[in-house]
Amino acid sequence: MPAPHQHLAIPDLAEVAYEILYERPWTADALCLGSDVELFFPEQYRTKEDIEQAKAVCLDCPVRLTCLEYAVDNRIKEGVWGGMTRRERQAWNKRRTIHLEAA
Ligand code: SF4
Repeated sequence: MPAPHQHLAIPDLAEVAYEILYERPWTADALCLGSDVELFFPEQYRTKEDIEQAKAVCLDCPVRLTCLEYAVDNRIKEGVWGGMTRRERQAWNKRRTIHLEAA
């Protein structure tokens, strides 16, 4: 039987990020595969340069749209996905919704 504190343990953010990012089949083609997870999910305050560095990796990623849609559809708040921050993903999702409703 696990100790009580084991039920309350907060997983290491880098481990969670690793699981999220690398347990999805489409991530086999991800350009960030093998990159430093901290780049995409920094535990400490991110500078604009940090974010731009992560986004630069995403620019030529062949699964960028899949990655972006996955993050939006699963309401993932943390990290850079599909070359976008959380706020950028929210804006992108609003535009996508408007476009789909107009079609
Ligand atoms: S778009 Fe960026 S975060 Fe997503 S799989 Fe590609 S390199 Fe990784």
